[in-house]
Amino acid sequence: MFYIGNHTSSSKGYEAMGKQMIRNGGNTFAFFTRNPRGGKAKEIDLEDVRAFLALAEEHEFGKIVAHAPYTLNACAAKPELRVFAENTMADDLKRMEMTPGNYYNFHPGSHVGQGTETGIQMIAEILNKVLWEEQHTTVLLETMAGKGSEVGATFQEIRQILDLVQLKEKMGVCLDTCHIWDGGYDIVEHLDEVLEEFDQIIGLDRLKAIHLNDSMNDRGSHKDRHAPIGEGKIGLEALSRVIRHPLLQGIPFILETPNDDEGWTREIALLREEYRK
Ligand code: FE
Ligand code: FE
Ligand code: ZN
Repeated sequence: MFYIGNHTSSSKGYEAMGKQMIRNGGNTFAFFTRNPRGGKAKEIDLEDVRAFLALAEEHEFGKIVAHAPYTLNACAAKPELRVFAENTMADDLKRMEMTPGNYYNFHPGSHVGQGTETGIQMIAEILNKVLWEEQHTTVLLETMAGKGSEVGATFQEIRQILDLVQLKEKMGVCLDTCHIWDGGYDIVEHLDEVLEEFDQIIGLDRLKAIHLNDSMNDRGSHKDRHAPIGEGKIGLEALSRVIRHPLLQGIPFILETPNDDEGWTREIALLREEYRK
């Protein structure tokens, strides 16, 4: 099954997001659990959740990929910012139990001069506080572009975080094509080798979701500027090889391209066509 959708800008509830995605031609989506800059989350409406779950089943949706606010920094230097990260994640994970069995993706964080090793330890420390045995959500570490002091721009750093987490079975990885390209991984010329490296260092069984983005910048630029599919330095051909890759089947592909619903509708149609080639 080919699962594709976009990061929806809607905040009108689960059913509205699902319906918009069907109009866009998708069968999965991503969304911010709350205002991307943080703040209090909206109460979850049980009726809305029920309507969404029925819709998702009817339209054979893949797993949905919730995104933590991007201001959340689990390895911030200021203790109060780490407390905010912990509380936000804990609250989000509790709310995610309303739609059990899905993914919660977050940016590992920026160590802001404390060093990668300290950053990795702080991230794992928070994960060890917020994960619990009975949860039904898999938490995904996103691969980063290495902008500033971002942690998680190499497969090794992701692996080091995972190594320190106790409830490993609750953890997975979300691979962002723009980020790893900007981080230096050559998915244009050497996709097989990059996936092999991912498998050796992290394990492909941990790869649960893919953010499918083109990049405005050259490989290794550490910039993190997403481009529409086919309009960046990665290009349509290379991204088509990603969605068709035999090792990546059944994984939800999420577009985080600079677009509106009209643009995403076009991209989803284009990628569905590429997928069938
Ligand atoms: Fe992200
Ligand atoms: Fe991403
Ligand atoms: Zn990005």
